[in-house]
Amino acid sequence: MVLKKSVTLPDGTRIPALGQGTWVMGEDSTLQQQEITALKLGIEHGLTLIDTAEMYGNGGAEIVVGKAIKGIRDKVFIVSKVLPINASFQKTILACNHSLKRLQIDCLDMYLLHWRGVVPLTETFDAMQTLVEQGKIKRWGVSNFDIKDLNEVESYVDHHQIMTNQILYNLSRRGIEFDLLPWCRQKGLPCMAYSPIERGSILSHQSLIEIAHKHNATPAQIALAWVLRTDDIIAIPKASSSEHVIDNIKSLDIKLTSEDLALLDKSFPKPKHKIPLEMH
Ligand code: NAP
Repeated sequence: MVLKKSVTLPDGTRIPALGQGTWVMGEDSTLQQQEITALKLGIEHGLTLIDTAEMYGNGGAEIVVGKAIKGIRDKVFIVSKVLPINASFQKTILACNHSLKRLQIDCLDMYLLHWRGVVPLTETFDAMQTLVEQGKIKRWGVSNFDIKDLNEVESYVDHHQIMTNQILYNLSRRGIEFDLLPWCRQKGLPCMAYSPIERGSILSHQSLIEIAHKHNATPAQIALAWVLRTDDIIAIPKASSSEHVIDNIKSLDIKLTSEDLALLDKSFPKPKHKIPLEMH
């Protein structure tokens, strides 16, 4: 499948700019089939990047993903995350093995530290390197890291070893544009935007409705097109309904005009000062 829009990682790998999130999946067994169907539909339409974590559904989301990708492992790019409480050397190795088992795969395409905890970063990074050497993960990165953390990372490892920083970014959470996003751009570190539609809560905003009307689109499509307006940001909306998946795919066809962008800047202003990295 030809990717409509992709982002190139520091190791040269091209991944879809629009992927699929899985937070909250795997929590309710009566929804499992619907979640699997939605993920498979997205994959069929090119949303082959799937973001999951040991935390989601207490492992349940990884089980759902494992079922959705059965038989099509080579078509997908799987990202999972280790919790900070499991980020010691031994526990990271163990957590990764558990994730692989739930996902029913031999190797993760990317493994992230979910957020920073008390374990020294060097210990977690040693585990990540060991997992690469063992063939259990192809590459690794971080999540919810602000500039201070990234500067520390750079003192331990070459920043090209870190493949992404997964962070909260959407129209209503633009704080990273002040300093973190420019920092990442300068270093060639792609950001992966989570909660790209702010879990649905921004979709009733008048300006989004207005722009959506103009493009014969939905507010969600406009919010996603905005996150995807540059060539170095990946967005991972979560949709457990097929209708939402199809809706999100169409965001790749929307090109926002300078007039649209100006209206969105007015409604969702850019940061004028440092805002500590927000988290969900
Ligand atoms: P999100 O993707 O912004 O929003 C998900 C919500 O929006 C769901 O309720 C979904 O409904 C709904 N939705 C999806 N597409 C829609 C559409 N086209 N129209 C209307 N509603 C739509 O929020 P998120 O789940 O917090 O973030 C996305 C992913 O990022 C997560 O699933 C997770 O993989 C990752 N994440 C990472 C972190 C981290 O700390 N690294 C934190 C949060 C999230 P349905 O499910 O009913 O379709």
